Amino acid sequence: MIVMKFGGSSLASPATIKNVAEVIRANLQKRPLVVVSAHCGATDLLFELARGAVLGKYSTDDFLALHRKLIYGLELDEELIRDDVIELEELLKGISYVKELTPRSLDYVVSFGEKISSKIVAAHLIKCGLPATAYNAYDLGLMTDDAFAQATPLPESDKAIAEAVAGLGETVAVVTGYIAMSLDGDVTTLGRNGSDYTASIFAAAIGADEVQLWTDVDGVMTADPRVVEQARPLTELSFSEASELAYYGAQIIHPNTMIPAVKKKIPIRVLNTYKPSSPGTIVLSECERDCGVVKAIAHKKHLTLIDVVSTRMLLQHGFMAHLFETFNRYRIVIDMIATSEVSVSLTTDTIKNIPAAVRELSQFADVTVTENMSIISIVGEGISKSHNAAAGVFTALADEGVNVRMISQGATRINLAFLVSDEDAETAVKTLHRKFFEEETDKSCLNSFLTETH
Ligand code: ASP
Ligand code: MG
Repeated sequence: MIVMKFGGSSLASPATIKNVAEVIRANLQKRPLVVVSAHCGATDLLFELARGAVLGKYSTDDFLALHRKLIYGLELDEELIRDDVIELEELLKGISYVKELTPRSLDYVVSFGEKISSKIVAAHLIKCGLPATAYNAYDLGLMTDDAFAQATPLPESDKAIAEAVAGLGETVAVVTGYIAMSLDGDVTTLGRNGSDYTASIFAAAIGADEVQLWTDVDGVMTADPRVVEQARPLTELSFSEASELAYYGAQIIHPNTMIPAVKKKIPIRVLNTYKPSSPGTIVLSECERDCGVVKAIAHKKHLTLIDVVSTRMLLQHGFMAHLFETFNRYRIVIDMIATSEVSVSLTTDTIKNIPAAVRELSQFADVTVTENMSIISIVGEGISKSHNAAAGVFTALADEGVNVRMISQGATRINLAFLVSDEDAETAVKTLHRKFFEEETDKSCLNSFLTETH
């Protein structure tokens, strides 16, 4: 079996949904289980509706219009989504009466995106002559804790899913991504863009041969194509490389998605619904190094740098513990960290609570906060083996006048991350992409020039 997940952009119009049906048909002999996101824009609309309902100001018109366009375009019956729409309207009315939006009711509201998309996709498949049935993921065993908006699957889900899926017979199950249920029977969600995670949870539970993430790009790219026109898709990545890329801002694979797949060594393939014949990128537990030392360049903007200098001039026993305890209490998530004898520099994309945490830390350290910083991360298994990767990177950046603030190489040594100002971020990414990926014919191409140490 394989798991095929289709994102919102693959389900954005009648034409793209028809495309999806053909892609599924072409893979029928691999016995696909299909996981779907909400239709493009639906989840955002639901969040807006929930927030409007608390203020007593909301209208489901746009939400209905978005789905009617698809239903009419695919010549389906509106009856298909009637019950869901009625339930949603009652729920919103309830929220507007009590003027309170709990995390529990918010998850309930936003779950209608996937509940409806799974029905529309399944109905269209049936219309195309394919055997299909829509399922809520929780009806096939996906149970989570009750951390609404960011729920974690319960370990017993695996067995429940395997049993439920084994009992499905020949039908192509079209399963809701993103949503699940707590043991108390409340609808939960796995975090924004969580449908990929649903796909890998199902794949691991049923021991699938592969997880396919169908998107609107050609795969994982060497850099963000919005910044680098010459960015190109990668054929192969290792799980560790993909994790580093996801963590440092490449939006293509949700970081959690890797966990179940890594555990069961199930390859993840990123494919383009609009170009089904292009090979996409395959993420494997181990991979052949396909080109040079560096695989890709990720970047993440709008971060805050916090420099903490111990006023006692020495990093005393307990200093780090106190530092992290403070960040933990204020729920500040740390991205990157570098230390010296008397100072610690950290970056975060959390905005809330920074002033309060800084005030507290200032009691025992000098704290400086710099906003608008970007992490640039160079990722590739080959970096750990290269003795001159860093030299190549920093010389290239210096030549362009990019000022590097902080450098860090993680324990896996497959990435080299550094901090620059938001203003310099694009120049840095473009410069490194040019050096690593665009000067192949030129002797100065860093990627072929870099040598390995043995
Ligand atoms: N529909 C959800 C979201 O927009 C989940 C997903 O698309 O994967 O975040
Ligand atoms: Mg999505």
